[in-house]
Amino acid sequence: MSVIYDRVALIGLGLIASSMFWAMKRSGLAGEVTGYARSSESRDIAREIGLCDRVCDSMAEAVEGADLVVLCVPVGAMGAVAAEIAPALKPGATVSDVGSVKKAVIDAVAPHLPEGVHFVPAHPLAGTEHSGPRSGFAELFDHRWCLVVPQIGADRDAVEKVEKLWQGMGALTGEMDADHHDLVLAVISHAPHLIAYTMVGVADDIRRVTETEVIQYSAAGFRDFTRIAASDPTMWRDVFLSNKDATLEILGRFTEELFALQKAIRDGDGEHLHAYFTRTRAIRKGIIAAGQDTDAPDFGRGKV
Ligand code: NAP
Repeated sequence: MSVIYDRVALIGLGLIASSMFWAMKRSGLAGEVTGYARSSESRDIAREIGLCDRVCDSMAEAVEGADLVVLCVPVGAMGAVAAEIAPALKPGATVSDVGSVKKAVIDAVAPHLPEGVHFVPAHPLAGTEHSGPRSGFAELFDHRWCLVVPQIGADRDAVEKVEKLWQGMGALTGEMDADHHDLVLAVISHAPHLIAYTMVGVADDIRRVTETEVIQYSAAGFRDFTRIAASDPTMWRDVFLSNKDATLEILGRFTEELFALQKAIRDGDGEHLHAYFTRTRAIRKGIIAAGQDTDAPDFGRGKV
């Protein structure tokens, strides 16, 4: 593949930024990539492992002369970062982000960006429970979706170039408006994370009270919740605080369904339970058919 941007700046050097760097390098998509992380510890690690062609000690230095600047910090930090980089942005540059929530990020970032700078919000639907500069890998985005959320009146060339970059990093791209994105993500990601956090919290309470062996026997299903519930606390705090309405809407529906299942169990209504589980099983088949997971038993873990 050929170079898409001569100069890319990554602000924040965690899981997503480091994966972007390795994916861009894998396919030669960027000339020079600069990077900035808030702590000197993360910047030192980045220098040690060769993460970014140049690691900078200030955001202004990192974005100076960049054609594309990608904000890879927690959602709640996006506004302050945009305010800080704004005076140093090159005219005609594109600013993008990878935040898991779109409406709140757009509201926080857009007002700071100077005239003549393009803003192309994006969100790769790929991640792991790990964070920090060492956690990234080039394959993270392969065959995963990256949703691009263009603003009304956005420069189409700028939008298409961002999409091309994500395709070059292995992703499939699609466009959505911000409100729809936030509702869809509340269903497929945000509410499931909250449910996993809750389930693990409940198991922990039970373990403390009854000395139950929840860790020893966790392969019965519980460990899949624990992987999700090990996700970064700062990132997820910000997701829930900034996607409040959509998450509450989905949790309301979830609670109604949960009560219906609870009642079916109490009433011995096996027909209701069987019909419900038959419907949900079909969704799993759809995910496998869409190439978004493996159909290997136990997620391909074998005898782990
Ligand atoms: P991460 O591994 O925790 O890295 C976050 C980076 O942001 C670190 O470099 C951190 O600096 C920096 N940072 C944290 N707070 C900051 C602040 N207040 N001001 C400036 N910099 C700050 O996070 P990540 O998983 O890459 O997530 C980054 C973004 O991607 C988030 O917006 C998240 O919603 C989104 N996202 C995450 C996933 C996922 O599964 N993880 C998937 C898709 C999108 P230090 O290293 O110095 O602390």
